[in-house]
Amino acid sequence: MSKIDEKLQPVLDEVLRRNAGEAEFHQAVHEVLESLGRVVAKHPDYASDALIERICEPERQIIFRVPWVDDTGQVQINRGFRVQFNSALGPYKGGIRFHPSVNLGIVKFLGFEQIFKNALTGMPIGGGKGGSDFNPRGRSDGEIMRFCQAFMTELHRHLGEYTDVPAGDIGVGGREIGYMFGQYKRLNNRYEAGVLTGKGLAYGGSRARTEATGFGLVYFVQQMLGTKGTSLDGKRVVVSGSGNVAIYAIEKVRQFGGVVMACSDSNGYILDENGIDLDLLKEIKEVRRERLSEYVRIKKSGAHYIEDGSIWDVPCDIALPCATQNELTAKDAATLIKNGVMAVGEGANMPSTPEAVALFQNGGVMFAPGKAANAGGVATSALEMQQNASRDSWSFEQTEERLAQIMRNIHDNCAATAEEYSAPGNYVLGANIAGFVRVAEAMRALGVI
Ligand code: NDP
Repeated sequence: MSKIDEKLQPVLDEVLRRNAGEAEFHQAVHEVLESLGRVVAKHPDYASDALIERICEPERQIIFRVPWVDDTGQVQINRGFRVQFNSALGPYKGGIRFHPSVNLGIVKFLGFEQIFKNALTGMPIGGGKGGSDFNPRGRSDGEIMRFCQAFMTELHRHLGEYTDVPAGDIGVGGREIGYMFGQYKRLNNRYEAGVLTGKGLAYGGSRARTEATGFGLVYFVQQMLGTKGTSLDGKRVVVSGSGNVAIYAIEKVRQFGGVVMACSDSNGYILDENGIDLDLLKEIKEVRRERLSEYVRIKKSGAHYIEDGSIWDVPCDIALPCATQNELTAKDAATLIKNGVMAVGEGANMPSTPEAVALFQNGGVMFAPGKAANAGGVATSALEMQQNASRDSWSFEQTEERLAQIMRNIHDNCAATAEEYSAPGNYVLGANIAGFVRVAEAMRALGVI
């Protein structure tokens, strides 16, 4: 990782000391502080009143036991987390992740990123994140329901439509949000629709929320390509992951005329020379909830399943990492560059390692950081909250048009901020600074709290 401004080094030192061993959180803070050097050089007042130190320290961190009973009658124990990071702009807002790798450091990194991402949307939402080390893979529907109920039995007391509004993330989709909302409603005896987003359409969800993160990513990438006079039309695209973000990124790439050659899960990747068959992919992942290898078993011609190897070995014009953090390494970046990649758009949170990002930026590859490029999901969650507050329900077209406009605004804001700070085309810097300035202005106005 590169050096940060000497005025900000003590802030980083304190974060490392106070959050020992939380590597992903350190990485996320380092990246933001690296960008903020230019801000404090231009506006030293932003470094006063320990404002940057306060942004790096969560307002509240909740850790709790989640006991539940599996199908064999055994009691299982998991650990639950909610990090309420920053509420200067609005109620804490950010997803819940169920994955065995979840720990406090992962939740903190995600919550920290969320502060700036939510600020970039221009909407009134603060930053937070939650999750559990529960592994949903192979669990029955009844087990998923009992786990979600147990998780919410503790978490509910910390939530509220004006307090903290979770949504989905890895391992948490419409089914899990439904079970958690049901339990919240039962415990509080309140139909408080705005307390969770990503709800089903039958009970207060928003049209286009399921699609929003993937669609928003592709809108952002299309804007970015437009600055160089090109577009997705006719481009070869590789998308990692095969979950919510990946599936709807694939759908929108196709609508814009691109061909998605490959996608993956944590066991391997599929390569389909004719372009991924989206209907089949949705059937396997969303309906049957099966492994990606099923795709090749069903679609016998033109498709290959590769178990050992990296999806980034597949030559492409555009790479969209949509699985998880640090999935795209320096070695992968070098391969992509060698194979002629022109743009990378992060659908996942922090999927590229810092070394990979540096290689892309130094190699002239357009690079859209997740903080900006995947903000369409949380932005549409905020639109869901608006619909809940006004007891209204918008059409798909109206909601998608709002999403597209928000993504254009985020893109233009990041690009203009990068220009302003003498780093044209550096969307990492643009996103970090534009997000920071909005939060910092609000925090200063609110005093030392
Ligand atoms: P899903 O659970 O729907 O899908 C995750 C996908 O990534 C699955 O295909 C999964 O494969 C794969 N994956 C997960 N962990 C790993 C790993 N360690 N190695 C390789 N592949 C892995 O999650 P989402 O699509 O919702 O989230 C994907 C990313 O997007 C995350 O980084 C999330 O934080 C981010 N994001 C999501 C938003 C949303 O609205 N859902 C909003 C903004 C960002 P497998 O099934 O094998 O585990």
